[in-house]
Amino acid sequence: MNLSEIKQLDAEHFLGVFGERCPVCFVRGEGCTLYDQDGRAYTDLFAGIAVNALGYNHPAVTDALIAQAKTGILHTSNLYYVEPQAKLAALLCANTFADRVFFANSGAEANEGAMKLARKYFYAQGSKRYKILSADHSFHGRTLATVAATGHDYYQAPYRPLLPSGLTQVPYNDLDALRAAMDEETAAVLLEPMQGEGGVTPADPEYLRGVRTLCDEQGVLLILDEVQTGVCRTGSLYCHEQYGVTPDILTSAKGLGCGFPIGAILASEKVASAIAIGDHGSTFGGNTLACAVSLSAMTYLIGHNFAALAKEKGAYLMSALRSIASEKILEVRGMGLLIGIQLAQDCPAGALMKRLLARGFVAGTAAGNVLRLAPPLIISRDEMDAFVLALAQELG
Ligand SMILES: *Cc1c(COP(=O)(O)O)cnc(C)c1O
Repeated sequence: MNLSEIKQLDAEHFLGVFGERCPVCFVRGEGCTLYDQDGRAYTDLFAGIAVNALGYNHPAVTDALIAQAKTGILHTSNLYYVEPQAKLAALLCANTFADRVFFANSGAEANEGAMKLARKYFYAQGSKRYKILSADHSFHGRTLATVAATGHDYYQAPYRPLLPSGLTQVPYNDLDALRAAMDEETAAVLLEPMQGEGGVTPADPEYLRGVRTLCDEQGVLLILDEVQTGVCRTGSLYCHEQYGVTPDILTSAKGLGCGFPIGAILASEKVASAIAIGDHGSTFGGNTLACAVSLSAMTYLIGHNFAALAKEKGAYLMSALRSIASEKILEVRGMGLLIGIQLAQDCPAGALMKRLLARGFVAGTAAGNVLRLAPPLIISRDEMDAFVLALAQELG
């Protein structure tokens, strides 16, 4: 099928939520390179929205997937023990603050589970705490509860009244606003350590540390949504490590399966001990194939210290981007290989993204007229240099 035939099928039959997509259909990938139907090569700096941390056709992903598929078992359900699931949980516990892990299928589902965990923690104590505070410009997913936690009218407006009740947003990086919104019914604060969709906005270090202290003083749980910032991308396995702040619950997804859908809820023993049989569950979550791929990919990423590599490559890329002399670039910000290029009003990020695509470079956007980069962590200096040159030419 050619691109216009695919486009037509999509336009006729797919729910209209994505509208007109970028005019390309990738059919093959290798390293950081994607190929379209005509064999044209594109250098990828977006990794399928911060998902493909090991790029395309990486043996740690592809071989693990094939090997598991060849056993004939893709799925058995959580009625039985699942070896890669147990090993992946152990790997995550060994490398993070967490004592226990639960697997879901996506970021939104992990956040749903995290909010349930927080409520159950207080319910088990006979406490009336149930409210969850999150931030303006946040993004936590598309289910009803995660939409209620996502501080953006664009996502919330069509679905009011929002479900569940007790979810409110306060300005990000504003400790006083958070303190003022907290009361004796507050169960948890849910934050991204760096807002991704909202514009690639890192938390101020004093803010995040202040949030932790405030939560401790008030007996409130801190949930960090690291769905986008996690899995080595920002320069540590999880971004919060660089702040010296430890959450009670953390959610992970996107890069966790390097392209295979999987999400995770990581929790301290304090929180996990409130959970009893039947409190939560999933048919697919922690599925054999998902865990086999994620276990292999995460073992590789951790074993080859991709956190340090992402930090080093990110510093290189950010400094190269900052050296572009263009009044269209107002700011380059981010951590590691999650980078936002703040563009001037007269340079719309969406149009720039499409022009870059036409030049053979895949980038993304974020809210607030930001060009967003989240490349595979295996990206080379040559690939970064080529992108910076193309961007400079496009803006020059
Ligand atoms: C992408 C994202 C989500 C939602 O993940 P899905 O897998 O799309 O459900 C949640 N939180 C953050 C911070 C994200 O970037």
